Amino acid sequence: MQRQTHAIATEENIASFQLVSFHFGSPGTGKKVYLQASLHADEVPAMLVAHVLRRELEKLDAAGHVKGEIVLVPAANPIGLSQVIHGAPFGRFDLASGVNFNRSYKHVADELKTSLAGLLGADADANAALIRAHARRVVGEWQPASSTQELKKTLLSMAIDADIMLDLHCDNEAVLHLYTGTPLAERVKPLAALLHAHAVLVATESGGEPFDEACSRLWWELADHFGDRFPIPLGCLGVTIELRGENDVRYDLAEQDARAILQYLAREGVLALDGLDPLPAPLCEPTPLAGVESLAAPHSGVLVFLKKLGARVAAGDAVADIVNPVSGQVSTLHAARAGVLFASTAHRHLLRGMHVCKIAGSEAHRMGNLLTA
Ligand SMILES: [Zn+2]
Repeated sequence: MQRQTHAIATEENIASFQLVSFHFGSPGTGKKVYLQASLHADEVPAMLVAHVLRRELEKLDAAGHVKGEIVLVPAANPIGLSQVIHGAPFGRFDLASGVNFNRSYKHVADELKTSLAGLLGADADANAALIRAHARRVVGEWQPASSTQELKKTLLSMAIDADIMLDLHCDNEAVLHLYTGTPLAERVKPLAALLHAHAVLVATESGGEPFDEACSRLWWELADHFGDRFPIPLGCLGVTIELRGENDVRYDLAEQDARAILQYLAREGVLALDGLDPLPAPLCEPTPLAGVESLAAPHSGVLVFLKKLGARVAAGDAVADIVNPVSGQVSTLHAARAGVLFASTAHRHLLRGMHVCKIAGSEAHRMGNLLTA
């Protein structure tokens, strides 16, 4: 194992930060895997999973069982981790710019459509190698305009040429769920089954340029552009893994999630493990991100859930009440469509319009930007 330290924000008159990455196996000996935890710095379960992954990967690497290259960034956001306001960690948005730490990554596909013209051939592997080389160069040429962009560039530089990129997050309160690209829906199924995911939300383009899509979407966009003339594979399985809720920080869950990820990497040929766990029956099929229904509070009051996270709800089912203790008004929120109640706010008093919960339905019904701020 090799440890690398990346300096972030190095001007002499301001606070500077260090990003640390751990490197297992050897480049060029197999697939490249990139794993990062807590890009949203207050999403803590991911860092505990990364801690377990590091322990296990050190052992596997020492025994020569890593058959490729694995990069692990166990705390991906030192800037966000340092943001604390009056005792409350604040890690989702960059305080300096207001920008979400998981948005606005450089999308390289348009530049590659130009730079690759005339260079591709009949060999899909050779085309993939060329695409990775050009993608690395374009990310390398990204001129960061701020310390946070410097962090984003540093992370993306390590991930842009990965075959598998797993970005570990969590929701406020949630059951385990995944986000990935629609073209990757089949390939993600074993990972979803091993992690016991309750929802797998897919989109061709989510909007806002999140990290996983910066790594994966270029492949299907380039295939659309060049694919009738030159073979281009889906070169990166980019997945955002939402490890339940912010307070689901437990050793048993972290061990279980890390084991599922290692089992998946073994199935992908990156790790030689003693045995493969049988693939559990999947809890869900992939459904469109555009099929997620969000419920909001119609007025201020106390939020009381009538359904548990992970429950399957039918169209018209009562999901939660908003109870105003002064007016006495009680409003019941109903699901408009059938689906899985997979995430909710962690707050229990809401103002009008505030987010209540999300339900994964099987039919797309939303347009435009599909991710919340
Ligand atoms: Zn997140």
